[in-house]
Amino acid sequence: MKDLVFDNRFVRELPADPEAGTHVRQVHGACYSRVAPTPVRHPDLLAWSPEVAALLGWDEGDVRSPRFAAVFGGNELLPGMEPYAACYGGHQFGNWAGQLGDGRAITLGEVIDPRGERWELQLKGAGPTPYSRHADGRAVLRSSLREFVCSEAMHHLGVPTTRALSLVGTGERVVRDMFYDGNARPEPGAVVCRVAPSFIRFGNFEIFASRGEEELLGRLIDFTIERDFPEIQGDTLARRVEWFDEVCRRTALLVAHWMRVGFVHGVMNTDNMSILGLTIDYGPYGWIDDFDPDWTPNTTDAGGRRYRFGHQPRIAHWNLWQLANAVYPAIGEAAPLEEALTRFAAIYERESRRMTADKLGLAQWQEGDEALVDELHRLLAASEMDMTIFHRRLSSLDPGAPDPFLFADAFYDEAKRAEHAAAFEAWLARYSTRVAADGVVGNAEALESRRARMDAVNPIYVPRNYLAQQAIDAAEQGELGELSALMEVLRNPYAPQPGRERFAARRPEWARHKAGCSMLSCSS
Ligand code: AMP
Ligand code: MG
Repeated sequence: MKDLVFDNRFVRELPADPEAGTHVRQVHGACYSRVAPTPVRHPDLLAWSPEVAALLGWDEGDVRSPRFAAVFGGNELLPGMEPYAACYGGHQFGNWAGQLGDGRAITLGEVIDPRGERWELQLKGAGPTPYSRHADGRAVLRSSLREFVCSEAMHHLGVPTTRALSLVGTGERVVRDMFYDGNARPEPGAVVCRVAPSFIRFGNFEIFASRGEEELLGRLIDFTIERDFPEIQGDTLARRVEWFDEVCRRTALLVAHWMRVGFVHGVMNTDNMSILGLTIDYGPYGWIDDFDPDWTPNTTDAGGRRYRFGHQPRIAHWNLWQLANAVYPAIGEAAPLEEALTRFAAIYERESRRMTADKLGLAQWQEGDEALVDELHRLLAASEMDMTIFHRRLSSLDPGAPDPFLFADAFYDEAKRAEHAAAFEAWLARYSTRVAADGVVGNAEALESRRARMDAVNPIYVPRNYLAQQAIDAAEQGELGELSALMEVLRNPYAPQPGRERFAARRPEWARHKAGCSMLSCSS
């Protein structure tokens, strides 16, 4: 395995918990606790991402060496690694939850890649830390596989995200009660190595504000700006203000992308919000099959549906409010924070309109488009149409002669389809008139470039919940072919891949109410 160059600024520049050991405790006056991964019985490389390995300067030979599985299963450290668990808090489901921290994630170090870029390597499921509270620090194969698959799929979809280098089986069992119904059972364990420039969350700042540790709060903000936002310059106050503004901007862009591809995070607690505006902490997330703004994949969220698909922009804004409250003591003025929060809404609206115009192939967002899109969303929901299939097919629609049969395999319920058929046809006619107003009809070249623009933002392949579940069911039996086939197809989500049509099909009926396919729990 080729050596990695480490430059561990987080542990070098920020204060550590003076206490050693993994006993559960409240950690004051520190950003992290030093803790090593707990070795596992039999680390076994189940999957890896060639793209992420290449970022680090590694090829297949490096990854296949037995040392790789040992390191990324948590049994060995490479020279230069200085493992730690970070201290953070968070608002969970709208309430302040106090100290949370990396209860099962352990950062190994910060790599400087051959291009000079910084990557934090973090194991998830690597054993207990001072932040494990009442839990075991481990992760099951099903949740680790889901995190591995979706991180990489999101990257290829063009959505900001943390990445995943590897999925390593532990050879150990982990006991989980998947639906909190008294049916605990042992499941295979696994460790994911996540990779991102930083895993700092909103909650890393909130914890210091909640404890009145203002000096440390300012230090962490300035550290974050210097390391992760080097383009932000100026005096301390101006930089902190601009930084908060930039976090709002990135978060708005992130959520606009989620809405574009039909991703539902499922647990948008402030400890699961990346300060870099990346999708982070893949747990009971889900993908929209039939278009339903009220759908939440998370069983824990089923009551209030706080984290439902259509509510994500509002929740992102609420989370940024909590971050604003937290960083206020380091800024001392409310007005610039309030302005940034207002700008969040404007940027979200702008990005969301731009992406919607691209998805629908409208030259530009214009007056009246909102009503057209609202009616579409109402129809997609009422007639239970598949979001991904509908949007992808739309680029093949001839606006001169719109044919509703183009969408025949996007429907989940024939009765609902029939009930709304006339309204759908009327919408297609209205839409075609709108497209014609862009002057593309009859112009082959303009139609072709419109189509290319649409196909670049409307994926054919997304990691539908049931596809991930099929890969999990096979992997739990030791069969990894389904996982690698899925990873392969998700590498090019916008390109037709002949022979792989089954990965583009709508959710089969058996998956409608199956655990793992339509509902997921936080138990992972
Ligand atoms: P999550 O809802 O997955 O973001 O987790 C919330 C908090 O619970 C974080 O502090 C996690 O580190 C912690 N946590 C979740 N699962 C475990 C586990 N199996 N062992 C220890 N801590 C955990
Ligand atoms: Mg989390």
